[in-house]
Order: sequence, then C-alpha cells, then structure tokens
Amino acid sequence: MSERFTGSFTQQEPIPEAGIKAALEVLQHGRLHRYNVAEGELGETALLEQEFAQLTGAKYALAVASGGYAMGCAMRAIGVKAGDKVLSNGFTLAPVPGAIASLGAEPVFVEVTENLTIDLDDLAAKIDSSGAKVLLLSHMRGHLVDMEALMATCDAANVAVVEDCAHTMGADWKGVHSGRHGIIGCYSCQTYKHINSGEGGFLTSDDDEVMARAIMLSGSYMLFERHAATPPVEVFERVKYDTPNISGRMDNLRAAILRPQLPMLEAQVDKWNARYAKVEEGIRNCPGLHVIERAPEGRFVGSSIQFLLPGYRPEQIESFVQGCAARGVELKWFGAAEPKAFTSRYDSWKYAAAQSLPQTDRVLAGLIDMRLPLTFTLEDCSTIARIITDEAMTLSQSVAAQ
Ligand SMILES: *Cc1c(COP(=O)(O)O)cnc(C)c1O
Repeated sequence: MSERFTGSFTQQEPIPEAGIKAALEVLQHGRLHRYNVAEGELGETALLEQEFAQLTGAKYALAVASGGYAMGCAMRAIGVKAGDKVLSNGFTLAPVPGAIASLGAEPVFVEVTENLTIDLDDLAAKIDSSGAKVLLLSHMRGHLVDMEALMATCDAANVAVVEDCAHTMGADWKGVHSGRHGIIGCYSCQTYKHINSGEGGFLTSDDDEVMARAIMLSGSYMLFERHAATPPVEVFERVKYDTPNISGRMDNLRAAILRPQLPMLEAQVDKWNARYAKVEEGIRNCPGLHVIERAPEGRFVGSSIQFLLPGYRPEQIESFVQGCAARGVELKWFGAAEPKAFTSRYDSWKYAAAQSLPQTDRVLAGLIDMRLPLTFTLEDCSTIARIITDEAMTLSQSVAAQ
C-alpha cells in the first residue's frame, strides 16, 4: 500500500483564547461599529491600527474590510482614475487585477521570473511603453523581488508603488518590513492569510495626505479624530471635502479577534518556516522537480510552497496532480487550461485588455503551489514531501519510458 496523507489543507488553528475573550466583551457591550465608543475609549479598531503601525514600523495604519478593499482604497488615495493604466504582476491572484478594475483603471501585466518575482527588465520596458505612473506590486506567495532595485527603477520613472502584502505580513527585505518600501502597503487578515479575522485588511503609509485620504475614503465621515495611528487633524482639513466616502471599515469585533494575534506573529512565522523547511528538504533532490529558492536578503513566511515541473506536457502534470490528490496531497497547478479554485491567470481576466506574456506562460505551465496550514505537524510535512517525491519519480519514469 502506498502512503496516504489524511490531514486537511484548509484547516486553520483556532482563534487564541485572548481573542475569543476580547470578542465576547465586544459582543457584550454591543459597540461593534468602530466609531461607536464610550467616553474616553479608543476602541478595538483604533488600538489595532496603532499596534499594527508599530509592528510594521509605519507611521500610520488603517484597518479596513478586506485586503482587496485596501488595494482599491490605496489606489484611490494616490489619485488613480478611471482609464489610467496600472502596472501589476502577470502572476498574482484575482483580487489584484480586480482592485484595478474596480476603479475603471486598466491593468498592464508584467512578466514573472522563474523565482516567481516580477521581472525588473520587463517592468522597465512596460513603464516606458505604457506610460503608467502606478505599480500595484504583488508579493505573490511571499517571493520578494530585490526591493532596492525595484524602487530605484520606479523612483527614476516617477512611478508610485503600492505593495500587496497579502502573503508577506511578517516578512521583511533586509530587515525592513514588507510594505514599507512603496508609498502604501496593503495587507489581508482573511482566514487563509497570516492572521485571521475571517475578512479584514490594512493599509500602512508614512504619507500624511495619502493616509488622510484613505481614512476619509474608508468611511470615517468626520470622525477621523477617533483614530490613533493617524495624521494631524489639519491634514484632514485639506482633503475632507473632496474625498468621497466609499465605506469599507473594519469593525471592533474583528479588531478584538486580531489584536492578540499581532504579538504572536513572529512565533507563527517561525512555525510556518519550520514546516516549509521540512517539505523543501524532502523534495529538494527529487529529479525533474525544481525547488524555487527564496531570496536570502529577506525573511519570508512559509505559509505556502511552490515548485516547478519544467518540460512536461499538460496531461502529464495533470496526472501528477491527480496522483498526489489520490494520496491526500492537495496541489494547485497554475498551468491548467481552465482556472480552478484560486488558480486563475492573467489570461483568465478577460475584463483586462488581452496581453501576451510568453515568459510567464512558460513558468506557469509547470508551476505547482501548495498551502501549508499551521495545523500540520512537522511529521505531516515529511509525509507530504515523501508523497510528492514518489509521484514526481513516477512522473519522470513514465516520461523516460516513452
Ligand atoms: C488574498 C489576497 C488578496 C486580497 O485579500 P482579501 O482580503 O481576500 O480581499 C490580495 N492579494 C493576494 C495575492 C491575495 O492572495
């Protein structure tokens, strides 16, 4: 009998006791709306923002309804308008081009490298050819590009960078928290990311006016003084009449669930990375399978792992994925003709102008992606690595026999 794995790839850890207790307190006092606070009270959401700003090293933070909302709000706050072109990664997830489309703006996709980071040469070329003034940079699956090189290219061309840090909360580039290089960092606290409130997100920035606009946009009415990690009141005076209210606030219940998770993040990252290392070590020397190296300049969060199966035909990869699935190992393949679950591709987003990214096509054709929930034990990770290796060997042997 071949080995099988029986764990769940979508089971998260429970909310920490302190979060459950704090959530119950909010439910008991009933002040769930972030601006519904008692005399002298800051409220869970304002406190969460203060603590998140501290964690990332940002001057200001704003908690919002989702990561997708954070990206749309960020682009509005820096003045992106309908019809504007916005550069973004050819390899990312659907909420990223979706946020661009939500403004009526037009995504211009940039090629991905074999390391799953944005291709800096193609970025420079697309900045020139498109004339775009904004890059929505997705740190897809936590692979960080050389951030100094990227910022040098963008700064020289006067391109504003908004960072999508849905997979890099807790990660850094040379000690600088992910999201701190661009003008705005956007984060998600949706269940499958690094902290969990079901839905939720953050924006961070050091820029007074950008953050004042983001706060107004998120639905602050004229209650912006009830924020803590916020620009001075006089900045709001300059923006409060011409910034529309596009409600997308965080509420005190979610904030209560999240606050105790922030001080745990470092230790959670260590746990993820220990699991990641186990799987990586197990599959590293498998013939025909190419592990994607993580940049040594950064600390990443191993909440998922990717590898390449270069040179196989689609039906061969399909049968490898099915072979793993039959043994309880759930893999996602970005090369399938039809998008499944989370795996849509730039050519699935038909609301954007058709674009050709031959290098991205080549990489995605063999790209396999696997989630690593913290409910896996290290032993689970070794089992999973053995099954992947075994199936990859079968794949390479079946090809050699042809
Ligand atoms: C999840 C995700 C988002 C958006 O997060 P939501 O909170 O689900 O809106 C953005 N970018 C990437 C790459 C994501 O995976």
